[in-house]
Amino acid sequence: MVNMMKALVFTAPHTFEYQDVPRPEPAPDEVLVEVKACAICGSDVHGSSGENGRRIPPLVMGHEASGTIAQLGEAVQSWAVGDRVTFDSTEYCGCCWFCTHGMHNLCAQRRIVGVACTEYRKNGAMAQYIAVKARTLYALPPTVSFEQGCLVEPFAVGMHAVLRSGLAAGQTAAVIGDGTIGLMTLIAAKSQGAQVCISGHHARPMQLAAQLGALDCAQLPQLTAERGADVVYDAVGSQSSFTQAMELVRKGGRIMVIGNHARTIDFPLQRCITEQIDVQFSYSSAGEYPVCLQAIAEGRAGLTGLWQSFPLAEGAQVFDRLVHRDESLTKAVLIP
Ligand SMILES: [Zn+2]
Ligand SMILES: [Zn+2]
Repeated sequence: MVNMMKALVFTAPHTFEYQDVPRPEPAPDEVLVEVKACAICGSDVHGSSGENGRRIPPLVMGHEASGTIAQLGEAVQSWAVGDRVTFDSTEYCGCCWFCTHGMHNLCAQRRIVGVACTEYRKNGAMAQYIAVKARTLYALPPTVSFEQGCLVEPFAVGMHAVLRSGLAAGQTAAVIGDGTIGLMTLIAAKSQGAQVCISGHHARPMQLAAQLGALDCAQLPQLTAERGADVVYDAVGSQSSFTQAMELVRKGGRIMVIGNHARTIDFPLQRCITEQIDVQFSYSSAGEYPVCLQAIAEGRAGLTGLWQSFPLAEGAQVFDRLVHRDESLTKAVLIP
């Protein structure tokens, strides 16, 4: 007899159905996680139009999740049923040169959970259960809630950028972009003891940023004796955001580009050389989950107020609000 479960299935462009589907069976190196919280990512919202080829229906989306272990694959030894966990949204091989050098975000075998493209199809966590590779699991400290736990995935993206940039306590950072990754980068930078300014256009996230202790980029000249920011994080990645980053960064400073809204942009080569500006790039995350979990557990990274929760059964309506850019909704977390 096949065990069934409830899942929010993406059945056609702009269409989600709450259905009974077969429960996944964990492979020998996997565990079955009973999902307790799964956040909707901007990439899920974009993908739901069916246009970018990354969410080919039918598919269960969801790569930002947490839950408890319900069943172990035959070869899994280091985990136990009942453990509270979150997991890396990237499934990687674990043995190639990149994986063994701390860069599993660059693994050629990487597959994103909850994505279906021409190369692969991997059901995600907008369901009661999901099977994930044991090597991608991270234990949730007891004080970290499942909702906070599911947000560690985007938080790790911000943390990856902040740690790559070498931002130090007492330095001044500027974040361009008030989407989830912009806010997570802000939180990551603050958790490292930096002073952070933000630039964005949306009322609610900017209000949240202010509550999180972010200053306005207009204050940057006073804060830095006119020098500019030590590090600027571009969480948009367009011609205009990069131009703004060049305006905000100090001589000898660093621009870390995280967003890639534009495929190509004009690059101010001469100014970067004569002002010795480092331009760096950051892609996804590469094992920053424990750093993020510790920052949350120690109260250095308040994620409070960042999300709103809804029952998974109402997922279709929630997607509809996000697709239509309902300003009252920032980050939605679905609870199975
Ligand atoms: Zn995501
Ligand atoms: Zn690999």
